[in-house]
Amino acid sequence: MPKKKQDIGSRLCAWYDQVKRPMPWRLNPTPYGCWLSEIMMQQTTYASVLPYYARFRTKFPTVEALAAANEQDVLKAWEGLGYYARARNLHKAARAICASGKAVWPHGVNGWSDVPGVGPYTAAALASVLDGEAAPVVDGNVARVFSRYWSLDDDFKHLPARQKLAARLAPLMPKGTVPPKKGDRPPKKGTVPGDFNQAMMELGALVCTPANPNCGDCPLAADCQARRDGTQADFPRKAPKKGLPVRRETGVVVTDVEGRVLLCENREGGLLKGLWELPRVAPVAEQVQVFSHFRLELSVLQARERAQFVDPRLVPLATSTRKVLKSCGLI
Ligand code: SF4
Repeated sequence: MPKKKQDIGSRLCAWYDQVKRPMPWRLNPTPYGCWLSEIMMQQTTYASVLPYYARFRTKFPTVEALAAANEQDVLKAWEGLGYYARARNLHKAARAICASGKAVWPHGVNGWSDVPGVGPYTAAALASVLDGEAAPVVDGNVARVFSRYWSLDDDFKHLPARQKLAARLAPLMPKGTVPPKKGDRPPKKGTVPGDFNQAMMELGALVCTPANPNCGDCPLAADCQARRDGTQADFPRKAPKKGLPVRRETGVVVTDVEGRVLLCENREGGLLKGLWELPRVAPVAEQVQVFSHFRLELSVLQARERAQFVDPRLVPLATSTRKVLKSCGLI
């Protein structure tokens, strides 16, 4: 009798047990550590998140410490990670979680979905790891793995395609785990739905990579459709890219005798709210003056925002400003 093929969940979890990377938030999974790492990794890779995670945990070791901080300090600790709305939401959520004076953590996909900055992907990841809820995650890694495995033509930039894939993955999640009871924190290590989700993400990050999938090391290789057809590079399907509109601006670097830099705090409600930037300038006049030995043609620029001299090491800087000041040797 032929040997029964192991189901996808068992193969993924067995493989994950052997290869998983020892991330600090995996060694001792707590709601604060898992939540913080998930938010940090939303737009960033694991390797680049590590130093930021360590720095943030040193500055704000508990959710209570984060809730008690002021927003400028939180943005400063986040500096360099980009997408600062994540830091503002994290701070807002920490205050809501600690509203009663003691941390009260949400539970399950529904509970986590109400937390500012937590979308369907993050809610599923946290509910599976912390509560053992069978909620599959679908991010870029998972979409790549399973679009290849099943040869799917969907464009996973769109929510309905991700929801359809999540519905297809849900029955494959290993069964038989009893989610920890409410208030049972820290959670039991390695709840099985959490392992399944992390295994899918790890497979996409380590083996089924965008450019050169290493099919020889893949636990799904035996029945992967793209591998059979030799079409790994064709998945996931991509819609043609649209060009981004270009916005041209001119910034100025001005320092005072104490080495402080002229900067303005962004007070608008956009992505850069609360961050400090170089003043932007615009031409306002052309002046010509003729001297005995030369003719001076002076272009006059006027700063558009109100600026002040500040120590750039003490305020949260917008990424473009930080890069410029670094290249000028000012930070
Ligand atoms: S066999 Fe290859 S293409 Fe298929 S899921 Fe594994 S790594 Fe990806």
